[in-house]
Amino acid sequence: MSYRLGPTTTPDTKFFWDGLKEGRILVQRCKGCARLRHPPRPMCPHCNSLEWDTIAASGRGTVHSFVLPRHPQWPWFEGTYVVALVDLEEGVRLVTNLVDVDPAEVTIGMPVEGRVEHFDDGVSLHQFRPRSPR
Ligand SMILES: [Zn+2]
Repeated sequence: MSYRLGPTTTPDTKFFWDGLKEGRILVQRCKGCARLRHPPRPMCPHCNSLEWDTIAASGRGTVHSFVLPRHPQWPWFEGTYVVALVDLEEGVRLVTNLVDVDPAEVTIGMPVEGRVEHFDDGVSLHQFRPRSPR
């Protein structure tokens, strides 16, 4: 069994978490100027449009930065875990965990690939792992 703390959703972020439950990493796209934005927010910072839709991200990206949190200890992580900022190839940045990698081997710029994992308590989260460069 594996568990994760569920996200706090708001009307602005609900589509993102619902997308994960369907296995997709969705990114908000402005209908006014077509720019992508993340984290989700109601108004485009470029053209002030309130109209938006979403695209499904490819999941390919690179590590922008990462940390290895030591405290507090959480019951749903065993040992050292990696929290990373990943730059998606679509041009937005996500907070995520890196898995299937020795934390000592994580580097800035490392190519990674994300997919959705469905945990036993009904929580669905995007998790990234190393990938071979294209
Ligand atoms: Zn816009």
